[in-house]
Amino acid sequence: MTTPAADITATAPVRAVTVDLDDTLYPQSAYLAAAWGQVADAGASLGLPEAQLLAALEEIAAAGSDKGTIIDRALLAVGVAPDRLRLFVPALVDAFAAFAPTSLACYPGVVDALRLVRSRVPLALITDGSPRGQHAKIEALGLVGAFDAVVVSDELGGRHLRKPHPAPFRAALARLGAGAAGTVHIGDRPAKDVAGTGRLGMRCIRVLTGEYAEWPAGDGYAAWLTVADFVSAVAAIEPLLPRREREDAAFLQR
Ligand SMILES: [Mg+2]
Repeated sequence: MTTPAADITATAPVRAVTVDLDDTLYPQSAYLAAAWGQVADAGASLGLPEAQLLAALEEIAAAGSDKGTIIDRALLAVGVAPDRLRLFVPALVDAFAAFAPTSLACYPGVVDALRLVRSRVPLALITDGSPRGQHAKIEALGLVGAFDAVVVSDELGGRHLRKPHPAPFRAALARLGAGAAGTVHIGDRPAKDVAGTGRLGMRCIRVLTGEYAEWPAGDGYAAWLTVADFVSAVAAIEPLLPRREREDAAFLQR
C-alpha cells in the first residue's frame, strides 16, 4: 500500500510515539570516534601501526558507517595482505562490538523533550545495531528507564529484522498497546525510519541531524514532516498530544 505522506491523518491525535536512537537523540559520530579508537588500540596489540590504522578507519567510516567491511578495508589500507586479513579481522570486530562508552551526550534539549512526550503518551525506542552496543549507548546516554519499551531489532530474531523491516515497528506498537495510525515515529534515516513507517501507515517525522541529514527524500521516503531536530519534532506534535498535567510547562517556555 502506498499512501501519500501528507494524507496520513495530518491533524489526528497522537496516541503514542516511537523514536530512533542513533543520530536522532545523539550524534553517532561521537560514539564511532571512540569505538574506532578502541579498534586501533586492539590492532596495536597485534603489531599493527595504531595511528595509521585509526586514520584509515576514520577515513573509510566517514564515507558512510553503514557500508560494512570498514575494518577489512582499513587493514588493506595499512598494508595487510588480503590473505592475512583473517588473522586480524575477528579480534578487531570483537573490539568494536565490545566497545562500551562510559558517557555520551544527547543533543541539547532531548532529555526534556522525551520527558514531555512520555508525560502525555506511551513512548518506545526502536533501534538497529548489535544489542550489546545499543544497550551500552542507552546506558552511556543516561536513557535507561526513559522509555516504556525498548526494541532492539536484532533481539527480535536477527539482523534481517532491522528497519525498514516492519517487525521492530510492530513490536513497539504491540508493547505500547498502540495502533499504527495513532502513532508518530521520529527518526533520521529516509531508507529506514521513513520507509519503514510509511509501509505501516505510521506518521514519520524526519529529523535532519547526523550522517543522513543531506540525503534526498526520494520516492517512498517522503516523511509526514521534516524538521531540524528532535526537539523541533516534539514541539510540532505537542498540540496533537492528549492533555495531562502540565508538568511540561518548562519545556514549552524554552
Ligand atoms: Mg538513526
